[in-house]
Amino acid sequence: MKFNFLFFRFVIILFDISFLSFALTQNCIDIPNPLNKTNRIIRPCHIGKPSNLKSKSKRDENDMCKVDFTCNISDGNLCEKAQKSLYDACQNISSILILKKQITISATFLADSSNYLGATTPSRFYLLRSKDGIVRAYPQALAKQFQLELNDTLSYDIEMIFNPSYEFWFNGDEPISALQYNFFTISLHEIFHGLGFMSFFDNSFAVNYGLSSESISPLPELTSVSGGELFEGFIETIFDRFVYILADSSEPENTKINSFTNITAEFNKFGPPPKNYSNEIEFLKNLSDSPQWKNLTPYLYKKATLQDSIIFVPFNEDVSNGTFLETGIAYNPGSTISHVSSNKYEDTSDFLMVYQTNPGISTESLINEFGDLISPRLKTIMHSIGFLTKDNPIMNEPEPENPESSPSPSPSPSPSSSSTTTNSVTYKNSSTKIYLDTWKLWKFALMILIVYLQTDYFGNFKLIICNE
Ligand SMILES: [Zn+2]
Repeated sequence: MKFNFLFFRFVIILFDISFLSFALTQNCIDIPNPLNKTNRIIRPCHIGKPSNLKSKSKRDENDMCKVDFTCNISDGNLCEKAQKSLYDACQNISSILILKKQITISATFLADSSNYLGATTPSRFYLLRSKDGIVRAYPQALAKQFQLELNDTLSYDIEMIFNPSYEFWFNGDEPISALQYNFFTISLHEIFHGLGFMSFFDNSFAVNYGLSSESISPLPELTSVSGGELFEGFIETIFDRFVYILADSSEPENTKINSFTNITAEFNKFGPPPKNYSNEIEFLKNLSDSPQWKNLTPYLYKKATLQDSIIFVPFNEDVSNGTFLETGIAYNPGSTISHVSSNKYEDTSDFLMVYQTNPGISTESLINEFGDLISPRLKTIMHSIGFLTKDNPIMNEPEPENPESSPSPSPSPSPSSSSTTTNSVTYKNSSTKIYLDTWKLWKFALMILIVYLQTDYFGNFKLIICNE
């Protein structure tokens, strides 16, 4: 028996050594601060070869969420309610998803006079190769559900900040007042961002590097190496894989639907990657002078500010089953594209992922009106990006892989039909900024609100849910 035991240990050690030798280094993209999502740090990560080992520990469906709440305010009761509400929201989401690994959330109360209620980012994106051969960014919460060995995951999948400058209402509180914002629905909204409801198509790179703010692009993977900067291509998120651009009335009638993935491929004709540059200045000069940057970034900006021009089409679905993304507002990187269209869905059962919210709406009233806070449309989006759901427990296609573990087939990204949708431009004012620093001012605002409760002024208290 002793010999057998030693032999068994020897086999285990050999296995460990052979496994480690398969660990491959890829870049990860870390976003440490949800209030500064443009700060994207590219660093090496180690991904082991796909593992067929089944987890020995049985999954506890009641323990699929971990929430650590850092409360920077003196009201302990409020802190407890916020943590519980966030946990309940996470449990609510985990009850519709089939999760293999626990979702971990770090949340913080941080008072801010700006007009947003929260801010969220996946803490880390792993670069994995989707089945169509394209390397994309997968948020850690999603990547760790796959049969990959992610050797250095961060402690938290999702980083969140909530703004207690505004009055939150929690499930179980007294009836909601006209000035209170529903913390539970805001929590659901933010968690979905953290799970991957997020595009890399924005102007953050352009703004960070002093280029025109009306330049939208996917994220360039640029890392410092000895002797300069290595450009390894533009990266999109797995969410972006299903995003398409519709033709508008200014374009010829036969203009076809275009995908973000095709646009990313067009961007990647610049360089082409991998390409070394002596420094960032040289890279920027070459990039900003390139036809790709000059043609594509203003085209994307135009589409991002044109109502009903960008749509999420679920895996293998017709564009008619797509969900319009937010493009009908003055461009705001925190609101545009990474939300559903408020024009289309604000007053529907798909309200949850619109970019702004009214106060005074209780969870019960929403359930009475819509039945479920997490709509079938939202479930389909999460299923498309790679989550199994209770409604659809079958994976669309094989799981993504470490990019270094397989060759790249040709991409074939296109939905099952084209569109001839035309659009008109409609700009809506973003929410009126409210700078109320003290509770007395809140009371004053409440009085004004009561006076105008039956008027259109009520709409001005709508707040942006997510910070830029
Ligand atoms: Zn949001």
